[in-house]
Amino acid sequence: MIAEVIVDIALSETDKIFDYEATGGVKAGQRVLVPFGPKMLEGFVIALKETTKYPDKLKKIVRPMDDFTAVTPEMLALMREFSLRQNLRYIDLLRLFLPVGLRGGVIKPVFTEFCRTTADYKELLDTVSTRARQQRACLEYLADKEIRKPELTNLFGQSAVSALVDRGYIEVYAVERMRTPETKGGAVKKPKLNDDQLKAVDEIVNGKGVFVLHGVTGSGKTEVYMHCIENALASGKTAIMLVPEISLTPQVFGLFRGRFGDRVAILHSGLSQGERFDEWRRLQNGEAKVAVGARSAIFAPLENVGLIIIDEEHDGSYISEGNPRYDTVEIAEFRAKYNGCPLVLGSATPSIESYYKAEKGQYKLLELPHRINNLLLPEMEIINMSEQLRIGNRDVFSTELKEALKNTVARREQALIFLNRRGYASFVMCKDCGFILKCRDCDISLTYHKEDNQLKCHYCGKRYEMIEECPVCHSKNIRQGRIGTEKVVAAVKELLPDANVLRMDNDTTTEKGSHQRILEAFVSGQADVLVGTQMIAKGHDFQNVTLVGILDADFSLYLSDYRSNERTFQLITQVAGRAGRAGKSGKVIIQTYTPKHYVFRYAAAYDYKGFFQKEKNSREVTKFPPFTNIVRILVTSTTDKRAMDTARLINEELKPVINEFKNDFVYYKGAKAPISRIQNKYRYQLLMRIKPQNYEEIKQRIFSVTNKYKGKELWVFTELNPQSLI
Ligand code: ADP
Ligand code: ZN
Ligand code: ZN
Repeated sequence: MIAEVIVDIALSETDKIFDYEATGGVKAGQRVLVPFGPKMLEGFVIALKETTKYPDKLKKIVRPMDDFTAVTPEMLALMREFSLRQNLRYIDLLRLFLPVGLRGGVIKPVFTEFCRTTADYKELLDTVSTRARQQRACLEYLADKEIRKPELTNLFGQSAVSALVDRGYIEVYAVERMRTPETKGGAVKKPKLNDDQLKAVDEIVNGKGVFVLHGVTGSGKTEVYMHCIENALASGKTAIMLVPEISLTPQVFGLFRGRFGDRVAILHSGLSQGERFDEWRRLQNGEAKVAVGARSAIFAPLENVGLIIIDEEHDGSYISEGNPRYDTVEIAEFRAKYNGCPLVLGSATPSIESYYKAEKGQYKLLELPHRINNLLLPEMEIINMSEQLRIGNRDVFSTELKEALKNTVARREQALIFLNRRGYASFVMCKDCGFILKCRDCDISLTYHKEDNQLKCHYCGKRYEMIEECPVCHSKNIRQGRIGTEKVVAAVKELLPDANVLRMDNDTTTEKGSHQRILEAFVSGQADVLVGTQMIAKGHDFQNVTLVGILDADFSLYLSDYRSNERTFQLITQVAGRAGRAGKSGKVIIQTYTPKHYVFRYAAAYDYKGFFQKEKNSREVTKFPPFTNIVRILVTSTTDKRAMDTARLINEELKPVINEFKNDFVYYKGAKAPISRIQNKYRYQLLMRIKPQNYEEIKQRIFSVTNKYKGKELWVFTELNPQSLI
């Protein structure tokens, strides 16, 4: 037999299939040790075959690395599909399928030694001299139990135990000890589902394809997920449940462990390598049947998958922007199709792309329009901050928010102050009239670049001079930059000197577990006010929070990103959902300089559908996804000329493609990247937007051009629908 092997080196030059003579009954999907040049390398057998084109040069596989098959046939199929579809290297995909500790043998299983008698202890006892008192006591002790070896030697001494082992009376055997992640809390009583939930569960468990589960915050989506998982397990199948990294807390683990016990394995970057390794192995060997985890858990080594769930499907963390780039929803669709099982995309604010597919009938829409027990959604109030300036209030908080904060704390209830700081770019805005500078060609907010004091459009690369005064009202109150969390904490303390305030942002959460500690302190009532960034927006069930203040609501609205409206709508809905969860009525105050923007109007009215229609129409007119796909070829090099020349060459080579598909390209332009140099690498880009119809074919044509341009000190990336364009 000949084995096709991919060696475990992340280089494009070696990312090819190499033939080896298969020995020792190796299987496709197994990791093996192979000679490669002068070295021994780990590799993956991706297929077996009868013949090779290179019989003379054939080397032998040295040995398998593991006594199990690390990569299932399904994942091998996934590797082939996505390396083709997204132009990814085999090895980068294969590495996604394994826990880091497995490769290179960094992490090994841990074993505990146990002892037991080899025959009935009475028979054995007859042949042991009465003078060997310790040995006899030891045998008697082991009469009907098996215990850990260290415990036994503690009790009866090393020499007695060794003697019995040597005589073959006691056998020592190893049991693998699993490292298990910590969980908090536990089983919650299984509630009786309401009608909406029942209908959703019924459709999912009896269905196939992709479901969008659109449920308002607190509508009981999690309970729907758990019922569907139960159903999958009952029919002998497995399930995968994904949650955004930041909401994956010990409480969530506890909830699932409480319901499904040891059948749940948790995959999460916050675990130790050992824990991740063992949880992965429990899934791989069939001991665990449900994988709960962040994005990478979509690669859980489960077979016979009966259900895949992606909670908060709109969340940006499901898109991997590093190497390899992938979209978790796309991977999930592949796996669901392969296994013939349903895929559930749950959210209070589905992504425009997903909801659009539901509208067109490609996905099925399920709705949970009410909160559990018909709790009311908190009332939202929009405050015009320009108006505040006019009445002489230059503070961080509006008069309304000050009043509400005082009242909330006086009632011994809690408040969240949310600082919208998504991204690191900064737009330019007139504080008096709310005017925002936008690109004349793209209708997208310009980003201020401090290094060259210019404004740039990230979608076309056009540059504009920085302004000194507002072109509309001529005010000199031009703002760029943002308020920091520290300043907000100081403002709360000034307003309420006796209140306890907690802060959660990147600075206060660097230590492992600190994120969790701050949340717990707040939940247990140690503070009246929690000030934080995006980190406080998700998933937490704050029982005593009745006020949410959203500062700088505009901030995400004017990022140079075609999704900025969508992101802002999602954020406001999500943060607002933290209030009034326990029957007390909640209030949300949104501070903005552009109160009339439709995002705020629809968000305040909880009108997702209205927002969707408006946003869809605008994307159709401006030709952004889902009506097009954005492709950027980014060329970087340590020398400016090399990067520029390469971009030009690629541009030349693409011309025939663009001519052939003239009607599919709604936009195409080559230029310097918005940030023209990062870490001493010069950056050029070819940016395009392509209609969906012939996208697959055009994409392949682009790959076949760009793949040629790789070399020393030169990097060419083809980014498909990238999240950020810097
Ligand atoms: P979502 O995920 O939609 O925000 P959750 O699943 O967190 O909502 O549900 C909100 C709360 O309601 C949770 O505390 C959950 O235990 C509870 N819950 C869910 N379904 C029911 C039900 N049918 N009856 C009573 N309580 C429920
Ligand atoms: Zn103005
Ligand atoms: Zn532009």
